[in-house]
Amino acid sequence: MLNLILFGPPGAGKGTQSKKLIDKYSLIHLSTGDILRKEVHDQSELGKEAKQFMDNGDLVPDRIVIGMIESAIDRNKGAHGFIFDGFPRNTDQAKALDELLERKGTAITALIALEVEHEELVQRLKKRGEIEGRSDDQDRSVIENRIDVYNRETAPLIDYYASQSKHKNVSGMGGIDDIFERLCQTIDNLKET
Ligand code: AMP
Repeated sequence: MLNLILFGPPGAGKGTQSKKLIDKYSLIHLSTGDILRKEVHDQSELGKEAKQFMDNGDLVPDRIVIGMIESAIDRNKGAHGFIFDGFPRNTDQAKALDELLERKGTAITALIALEVEHEELVQRLKKRGEIEGRSDDQDRSVIENRIDVYNRETAPLIDYYASQSKHKNVSGMGGIDDIFERLCQTIDNLKET
């Protein structure tokens, strides 16, 4: 299988690139942010619980997102592989994902980190807020909090995967097609798990 974590701060382009990568490599895209936004939209119990955290730009509790990922993997038995986008976000989630995949006889192939400069992230998120109307993209303090949470809780995962020799960096600056090209070169050099 080819199981990739597309990694990087909010606004790095994970969602945009995931959509292109799933077509090229026949993978399933699992975005915890997308799943959570749908739950909020549907006003499910889970969505109601998650909303307060999302509105502030904080992480929703691990048990919610880990449960969501497990059922999404189970719904896609027979998949050639997955792109995890926005998950894992901290070490406990990463450990849970490793255990989950091991139980299913597979593993993460690589974590690919998109690197983007801070001010570029803020500009991209504000622009997305205007175009897509995502409320957490429209407030500078919520944007800054999400980037802080990323730096504090999520970025350390790079060391977690580096210690398993699974970490790759790709520049996320520049145009969408150039970034896609760089990602494909990196993926084509990976060995499948
Ligand atoms: P995203 O679309 O990945 O930027 O996620 C939007 C929001 O959903 C985040 O700011 C968090 O509140 C929540 N969220 C998404 N994925 C996770 C996760 N893996 N763990 C905790 N919270 C998450």
